[in-house]
Amino acid sequence: MEYRELGHTGEKIPVLGMGTWKIGNFRSPSDRAEQYESLTRGLELGMTHIDTAEFYSHGVSEELVGEVIKGKRDSVFIATKVWPTNLHHDDVLAACERSLKRLGTSTIDLYQIHWPNPQIPIRETMGAMQELVDTGRVRHVGVSNFSIEETKAAQEALGKSELVSNQVEYSLSNRTIESGLVQFCQKERITVIAYSPLGRGELPVDIIPQAIISKYGMTPSQLALNWVTFRDGVVAIPKAAKKKHTEENAASLSRRLSQQDYELISKQAH
Ligand code: NAP
Repeated sequence: MEYRELGHTGEKIPVLGMGTWKIGNFRSPSDRAEQYESLTRGLELGMTHIDTAEFYSHGVSEELVGEVIKGKRDSVFIATKVWPTNLHHDDVLAACERSLKRLGTSTIDLYQIHWPNPQIPIRETMGAMQELVDTGRVRHVGVSNFSIEETKAAQEALGKSELVSNQVEYSLSNRTIESGLVQFCQKERITVIAYSPLGRGELPVDIIPQAIISKYGMTPSQLALNWVTFRDGVVAIPKAAKKKHTEENAASLSRRLSQQDYELISKQAH
């Protein structure tokens, strides 16, 4: 597994982690075991950044992640998120306690604001986030779905701690952040955590040129993850309930795209 620095903390996180949206939504009795197995396998293969949220499956995603990390807490980087209706000071503290309980841990590695909420002053929310860092409940603070302006405001409001990350959508089928946010984050050394990096499993079949698939001997999904994490300062969190998908994803960086092939894919996907 490749690693990149989280913000400018000096701490490294894997370039590929695991998302858990819809994890914890069990439609058949075998789903729970399948999801547990997939996440456990991902940890074995080095995808040790697990991304969850209080919102996912009404907390059941966090509970399942809690089961998966039992006995291996120290080797996992746990990221979760507070929902935008819980951004008043006391609500942030209470939401964090609930997440810690569901995750079965005493510390969250990365606590993120899931979406901005213009109704609630960012200073109030970040004040609570700073308290969580000061009391050791949270190690690092991040945001998600924040524009450049919102990210700047969040950075300024945080005080002592650094804002380490912004989790945003980024894939071959959604390249919105290339118009400014990714460059801003690189300059500020705020890690971009690319969500839905596989276009929610619906990337157009012909998005990667056949010649590149043959040249690298990789699947289109693997090449898509290779492409999305090509830029400095970007990590990704593909979600896979199926173990075979997790294994495939974990092997995505076994060989890196050349600059030329990266550009070829970029051109084709425009
Ligand atoms: P995604 O990771 O782009 O795609 C997930 C889909 O791709 C699933 O259907 C999965 O199937 C399939 N898949 C995974 N690996 C595959 C492979 N190797 N080959 C073929 N199909 C594969 O979509 P996402 O879940 O939306 O995004 C990833 C994570 O980002 C989320 O789980 C969540 O943690 C985070 N996220 C955050 C926000 C936010 O607002 N901050 C929003 C959306 C997502 P199976 O599950 O059946 O294996």
